[in-house]
Amino acid sequence: MRVVLLGPPGAGKGTQAQIIAGRLGAPAISTGDIFRANVSGKTELGLQAKSYMDAGDLVPDEITVAMVKDRLAQTDAKGGFLLDGFPRTIAQAEQLRDSLRELGHGLDCVLEMVVDEDELVRRLSGRRVLVDGEWAQRDDDKPETVRHRLQVYREQTAPLSGWYETEGLLTRIDAIGAVEEVTERAMDALAACGGTRPDGPDAG
Ligand code: ADP
Repeated sequence: MRVVLLGPPGAGKGTQAQIIAGRLGAPAISTGDIFRANVSGKTELGLQAKSYMDAGDLVPDEITVAMVKDRLAQTDAKGGFLLDGFPRTIAQAEQLRDSLRELGHGLDCVLEMVVDEDELVRRLSGRRVLVDGEWAQRDDDKPETVRHRLQVYREQTAPLSGWYETEGLLTRIDAIGAVEEVTERAMDALAACGGTRPDGPDAG
């Protein structure tokens, strides 16, 4: 399946993307993770992206789209993928649609993970990640940057929800609750897009 996970920072996209991708047997592709790996590795791409990320702004579409196209061209993504954190603007969504179309493909499903904003701020402010073997706060999880990222989400990414709804691809799921509960909701939603539970007995 070709799936996009949509939802604000802190909705749990990364966590669910890993689990769902495992069940689908397709790679989870997180643009945030790819950018962070490039920042740590001090690559050209990382240097280009870093200032935007630290400020909580989006990396320009041009840079991001080129990176995703390269990633989707790799062998493991040929049969399906789960995108986490991309697209984040209507322009990115249009370019994704066009490049899939060139390959004769389209998305099967866009899952929007819905969480209210108070809960998001709570989750992001308390989030810790492993950096070089130690638990640390991500630079862009500082309270003032969190607020800015939520504003960027509202302004630039939230409109994608209506856009994908018009395309007939959108399903919303409640992303509050235990990780396993949210996974079950997601798998049921994917079943509704694809006809059967993609991890069920008829999978494949
Ligand atoms: P979160 O969903 O928690 O905000 P991500 O790990 O998805 O975090 O992204 C972290 C940062 O990486 C973003 O704030 C942004 O600067 C950059 N980024 C990730 N994906 C994109 C994208 N599709 N377009 C532009 N910038 C992106």
